[in-house]
Amino acid sequence: MHWELNADLAMRHTMGCPARAERMVTVANIDDIRRVLSELTSTSVPAFVLGGGSNVVFTRDLAGVVINMGNRGVSVDASDSSGDIVRAAAGENWHEFVWWTLEQGYVGLENLALIPGTVGAAPIQNIGAYGVELKDRLHSVRAIHMDTLEEREFSLSDCCFGYRDSFFKSEPGRRWLIWEVAFRLSAETPLVLEYAELKRRWELDGAPCDARAVAKLVEAIRTEKLPDPVQLPNSGSFFKNPIVSAGHFLALNEKFPDIVSFPLADGSRKLAAGWLIQACGWKGFLENGVGVYPKQALVLINPGHKSGGEVKLLASRIQASVEERFGVPLEVEPLIL
Ligand SMILES: Cc1cc2nc3c(=O)[nH]c(=O)nc-3n(C[C@H](O)[C@H](O)[C@H](O)COP(=O)(O)OP(=O)(O)OC[C@H]3O[C@@H](n4cnc5c(N)ncnc54)[C@H](O)[C@@H]3O)c2cc1C
Repeated sequence: MHWELNADLAMRHTMGCPARAERMVTVANIDDIRRVLSELTSTSVPAFVLGGGSNVVFTRDLAGVVINMGNRGVSVDASDSSGDIVRAAAGENWHEFVWWTLEQGYVGLENLALIPGTVGAAPIQNIGAYGVELKDRLHSVRAIHMDTLEEREFSLSDCCFGYRDSFFKSEPGRRWLIWEVAFRLSAETPLVLEYAELKRRWELDGAPCDARAVAKLVEAIRTEKLPDPVQLPNSGSFFKNPIVSAGHFLALNEKFPDIVSFPLADGSRKLAAGWLIQACGWKGFLENGVGVYPKQALVLINPGHKSGGEVKLLASRIQASVEERFGVPLEVEPLIL
């Protein structure tokens, strides 16, 4: 366990906004976690859990303690006819874990390659990409309550996963610290290749023959499309794709025939937030060191390492213009603190 005073948070989140934590502790195992939480609860000190910082934007210094997840370890726990239960510690790097599973011969996580961050944060917003969501592969989550220190295993249904959403994003859910995530994986899982952008690529270059080839294809697409936070600070997609009713979609489609959308099973439509933002003229916008990525309007960038307040202000301007033009509210995806 390692303590740091007045810790620099700019280097610990991918948007790179200047901020500091009064104290930061890096925990290496569940005993560290129990010890830190029992000290914090007995002194009523506020705590915030940080993974890789790829889905959080700091607008201010944080009082209290930031708990930096440094626990590591991956193991195969049990097997049955539908696969193996593979457990990974929350502090494991997500992309490295994906490749570990692929190298063991498992199929299932390849579409989620190259998503930044840690294993422990992956269930928080039910990470998803190229037609697969975390919930499609998750078995359970082990977590500890930050106030009562109760330890609990959450089953797939306990997690209440939705689009970029889970129980852990709710008010009661935020009090649980995830220390281990278990996946149900098998070598027999069919590849998911139907997502439009993937399909376009493999129809040109030939279908990938196995899960590792899919991961490499996903990596190539992502590297082309998304900025590397080390070179250009960003938090990935800054807004969720909004979901509108069938009626609202028909009205929009009449007025904007080239609007990009995806039909959902219940008849509603998911709109491409990037298209809405681009249609409002924001793509490539840059002012005072904060802007919108020229290749993908859904990504806000912070090349000037400006404050989280400046990023938030730009996000509000984008939300207001999209709402005014299309009558569609955009919901921010990363946590803004
Ligand atoms: C370039 C880029 C591309 C991205 N692409 C995608 C994508 O394709 N799909 C997608 O879904 N997301 C994407 N993201 C968002 C992000 O990578 C994911 O949300 C990721 O899971 C965040 O992990 P993290 O460890 O960085 O979490 P952090 O940013 O550190 O934390 C995010 C939230 O989770 C909480 N948290 C973190 N760890 C724990 C824990 N162990 N227990 C309890 N709470 C915890 C934090 O308190 C915070 O509320 C992208 C981001 C970037 C920068």
